[in-house]
Amino acid sequence: MDAMQNQNILISGASVAGPALAWWLARHGFRPTVVERAPQLRGGGYAVDFRGPAHLSVLAKMGLLDQIKAQQTHLRATTYVDEHSRPVAAMPASIFAGDVEILRGDLGRILYGATRDDTEYLFGDSITSLHQDDDGVHVTFARSAPRTFDLVIGADGLHSAVRRLAFGGQPDQVTDLGLYVSIFGVPDRYGLDHEGQLYSVPGKTAAVFSAPGTGQAVAQFFFTAPGGEPIDFDYRDTAQQRKILADVYAGVGWHVPDLLGQMPAADDFYFDSVSQVKLDRWSSGRVALTGDAGYAAGPGGNGTGTAVVAAYVLAGELAAARGDYRVAYDRYERLLRPYVARGQKQASGGAEFLAPPTAKKIAQRDRFFRMLPYLPPARLLVKHLSTRTATAINLPEYAP
Ligand SMILES: Cc1cc2nc3c(=O)[nH]c(=O)nc-3n(C[C@H](O)[C@H](O)[C@H](O)COP(=O)(O)OP(=O)(O)OC[C@H]3O[C@@H](n4cnc5c(N)ncnc54)[C@H](O)[C@@H]3O)c2cc1C
Repeated sequence: MDAMQNQNILISGASVAGPALAWWLARHGFRPTVVERAPQLRGGGYAVDFRGPAHLSVLAKMGLLDQIKAQQTHLRATTYVDEHSRPVAAMPASIFAGDVEILRGDLGRILYGATRDDTEYLFGDSITSLHQDDDGVHVTFARSAPRTFDLVIGADGLHSAVRRLAFGGQPDQVTDLGLYVSIFGVPDRYGLDHEGQLYSVPGKTAAVFSAPGTGQAVAQFFFTAPGGEPIDFDYRDTAQQRKILADVYAGVGWHVPDLLGQMPAADDFYFDSVSQVKLDRWSSGRVALTGDAGYAAGPGGNGTGTAVVAAYVLAGELAAARGDYRVAYDRYERLLRPYVARGQKQASGGAEFLAPPTAKKIAQRDRFFRMLPYLPPARLLVKHLSTRTATAINLPEYAP
């Protein structure tokens, strides 16, 4: 057998895609280093889910499924309410929560714990330049000394630095879906027990989900651009984002004033546009992309499960090709692209569902979910539709 080449691999981003890839690379005998811009592991955040055998089988192969199940949210119900918190309609939990739902921060901790012994982590740092030649990729960092790696993989999310530095020439990489999202933790004083409540007015939804075991609840806001014009904001300027959120939701009832009142104290405040990333190629020489950095889908697009499946495939293909990145990147892309495209298609209608534009559309949505319990075939169909994109891949077996 040929000797393994290109073993020294830098991954940018320590959320889901990065540590999952590090796990599989180490398993196949590569030496991963992960650089993460945040000073430590980022906690908090919303719940993410896994659904169907493709996602679950990869987690099982990693030996992490039981650990993840032990920390799942056990969400029982997601209820649309009126401004007095009276239920209007209930959505089956499986639509939001899949087969296993876990808070993103808890998942991050599990992945970090499973990789830290075999992976070098550089927190509080970021790649500032990439230059590749026959010897490898020469990398400079904001803080660490320059180093050379055999390969670099961007797992650094929607605003990926690796994508900007190595794929800058490709046009139209990020498509804004016209929806904005904000999420932050709040004290758990809404009497929720393994449930979520959502309140909608035209173009705006606010929600609170319980976050069992944390003493916190999670506030979520989904809204479309007021007046249809994209909102101009700096994704690093949270003061500006907090103001945008407060302005958009000014005058909205239910728990909204109370939730916004908690916003200044939230240290996990998150705000972004909901966007998709689409590239003609996911690699450029020795540099490749994975997870949201390469193909973000947005809520409803199985991004977390896709990141885990992609880690399995990318590392497996690198091992199968004995580190020949040209062969491996090509096969990774061919295997994953149709799967990713289905997830992106599914998520592209997210705005209509998450923040219906008119009172009529809100009423239609509520009526649909009120009818659902009386239509068992429709319930099965909804379950099937929400799972089928996540299962639509045949995963190869890779020898360890
Ligand atoms: C509001 C919202 C709700 C979602 N809900 C779901 C859901 O219910 N189910 C689901 O499956 N998916 C969901 N997703 C998608 C999911 O969060 C992602 O697809 C998934 O987490 C994979 O992300 P990732 O690891 O590729 O990137 P991210 O989670 O975005 O992580 C990127 C990491 O890179 C770091 N980073 C950024 N820039 C740099 C840099 N320059 N240098 C070093 N590090 C850097 C960041 O700090 C971060 O740690 C949701 C997404 C959003 C926005």
